[in-house]
Amino acid sequence: MPDPKAFLTTPRRQRERRDPQARLDDRREVYRPGALLPIINQQADRCMDCGLPFCHHACPLGNLIPDWNVLVADDHWRRAAARLLATNNFPEFTGRLCPAPCESACVLAIDADAVTIKNIELEIADRAWESGADQPKPPDRMTGFRVAVIGSGPAGLAAAQQLTRAGHTTTVYERADRIGGLLRYGIPPFRLEKHRLERRLAQMRAEGTGFRTGAAVGDDDLPADRLRERHDAVVIAIGATACRDLALPGREADGVHQAMTYLTLANRTDEGDHPVSPLSAEGRSVVIVGGGDTAADCLGTALRQRAAAVTQLDINPRPPHDRADDQPWPVHPKVYRVTTSHEEAGAPVADPRVFTATTVGFETDGRGHLAGVRIASAAPGDRHPTPGTERTLPADLALLALGFSGPERENRIAEQLGLTHDARGNLTRDEEFATSADGVFVAGDAGRGQSLIVWAIAEGRSAAAAVDRYLRGGTADLPAPITATSRALHA
Ligand SMILES: Cc1cc2nc3c(=O)[nH]c(=O)nc-3n(C[C@H](O)[C@H](O)[C@H](O)COP(=O)(O)OP(=O)(O)OC[C@H]3O[C@@H](n4cnc5c(N)ncnc54)[C@H](O)[C@@H]3O)c2cc1C
Ligand code: SF4
Repeated sequence: MPDPKAFLTTPRRQRERRDPQARLDDRREVYRPGALLPIINQQADRCMDCGLPFCHHACPLGNLIPDWNVLVADDHWRRAAARLLATNNFPEFTGRLCPAPCESACVLAIDADAVTIKNIELEIADRAWESGADQPKPPDRMTGFRVAVIGSGPAGLAAAQQLTRAGHTTTVYERADRIGGLLRYGIPPFRLEKHRLERRLAQMRAEGTGFRTGAAVGDDDLPADRLRERHDAVVIAIGATACRDLALPGREADGVHQAMTYLTLANRTDEGDHPVSPLSAEGRSVVIVGGGDTAADCLGTALRQRAAAVTQLDINPRPPHDRADDQPWPVHPKVYRVTTSHEEAGAPVADPRVFTATTVGFETDGRGHLAGVRIASAAPGDRHPTPGTERTLPADLALLALGFSGPERENRIAEQLGLTHDARGNLTRDEEFATSADGVFVAGDAGRGQSLIVWAIAEGRSAAAAVDRYLRGGTADLPAPITATSRALHA
């Protein structure tokens, strides 16, 4: 029986992780299997079931968090799964990978530790798979409309699943040889084991979604305008993977690479495409330039490849441990975070990050090979080197993880359909995800800019609702959790 005062008596406990050093011996997920089970009901019971649940509003999917917390606390797992799957197509991905803005907005977090919402979501999702509560849901009848989805990241997959379940004949066109977008070739298996992706794809196939790999829309043999002619509607979900570069002296040195080149090869090696990664950090001194998720994934990968040394450069100052005054509850604050990769490198005691570090150039050994990364300190908010602070970090591998500037421009889809880009380089669309081309919609990072999986799923669901409305010409049946301009809670 749930205890209404559990938030006063039960401390927050997080899912246990395996020993950081033992984790480096494999590329399996960092969590201890089954570690959640004994404690999760009590953790869900900490939910105060507030009248106005800010957590629900902070989740872009509008996950019905208090509802499933009550059900889990009472051991009603199947009903909890039904509530969760009503708003989230892929909770096994968000339960592992979401930064959980919902927890920052939990009312309990005003003066105590937030409910472990993400862990609870994950446990419901994993149990739903194990118990058969997350079954294929093929449509009752087909509408006769044909929809093409371009791109198979979380936005494209969510859109495709919603459209297929609504009865539209839906095919996903993916230029890569495997389905999944950044879930496949960006995020490493120690954060998401790929059999979880395969399981979801098998479900989608069983429901009727078609997949075509090696299908680069925009190329001469598959122009986007011809694809549009053959379908009643098209959803473009091609991501925002144009990598930012560093135009600095020595950039052309052998040994300076984009982080995505490095991560893709590591992931391909795990898929069995190479016996060892053609771009391995083994025995090398690595400098990672950048402070985000991509940089952290490079760190965890380099440690597993047995790099001799790894340093990560972050242009920003080290964030505070607690919320700054200008980032009050319920916004998701910038605080000092130790990711699982940083933990493996020894943080917080021996943090591999150098904060307020700006890169000045790359030094070579005289034969074109990288020998060091020249850095300097920078005042907060300023990228210019502070005089007298320049120094060189020895390095024979430098990885650039500087973020992304929208969809790749060499993609000819926009040109073939007469689409434009906005000021930030993303594909232009209206509030309803529609472009200027009739029946063509944009979902995910391609329209929003590089974001999060939870936003990509929300975009895919909402774009599917817009397509459904366009095709049927009436009121949509499908849920639309966000508009194209919805943004995270901010101060
Ligand atoms: C290394 C890394 C780690 C990340 N970690 C996290 C995390 O922990 N948590 C989190 O929430 N978010 C994370 N993100 C962000 C998250 O992965 C993205 O926001 C999300 O994947 C965007 O989904 P999407 O479907 O819009 O695009 P993508 O996942 O980028 O998928 C786009 C797909 O379109 C395909 N495509 C492109 N052009 C064409 C074409 N012409 N024809 C056919 N197909 C095409 C691409 O090959 C790709 O498969 C991370 C990002 C990176 C790079
Ligand atoms: S998807 Fe993210 S924001 Fe939404 S409930 Fe799950 S962890 Fe929280």
